[in-house]
Amino acid sequence: MKIRIEDDEILIDLTGKERETLNIKIALTILKKNFTLKLYDVIQKKSAILAGKSLSPHYYTCSCKDYRMSAEIYPKRDLRRICKHIFTYISKYHFDDIDLITRTFLEHKFWYKISNVIEVELDKKIFFIGYTKDFEIFNVYLPWNLPVFYSYNCIIKKWKDFAEPFQEKDLNITITKFIHRLNMISKK
Ligand SMILES: [Zn+2]
Repeated sequence: MKIRIEDDEILIDLTGKERETLNIKIALTILKKNFTLKLYDVIQKKSAILAGKSLSPHYYTCSCKDYRMSAEIYPKRDLRRICKHIFTYISKYHFDDIDLITRTFLEHKFWYKISNVIEVELDKKIFFIGYTKDFEIFNVYLPWNLPVFYSYNCIIKKWKDFAEPFQEKDLNITITKFIHRLNMISKK
């Protein structure tokens, strides 16, 4: 698998026709290496002031230093760009307007320090894996099962509360292998 990590970003070579496979029997494909927030008409376009910062809620931009720094690295509306001001504004005024997946990722970014979320496909199921900046905690989000999520700790090599994402053992093994692979790559 052509994959490397820079800062907290996974860089995957998706060129060519080969899929990103971890074993021959069940393939885990990375569909997207980040999460982009959707635009919502209902979120106001005019700017707002929060804690002395000027933000544009509709486009998820802010004048604070955190935002400006992450905006230099990450694409528009990338989850990793979202600062605490945007999060506070959206959660205060628009949490009922945005979809459950987006809401969950925004919350987990600030509550569980999830720094990035990737979209994957395994056994024809499409779902998300979020991870902390140190690549030690990985949360698996099945869109059809939210708000339930599954958390894997790479240090103790255990699923939180022994709750694994799938009933099929092979799928859980594949995910765990994938997670450990990312954890190992991040340590190099
Ligand atoms: Zn901000």
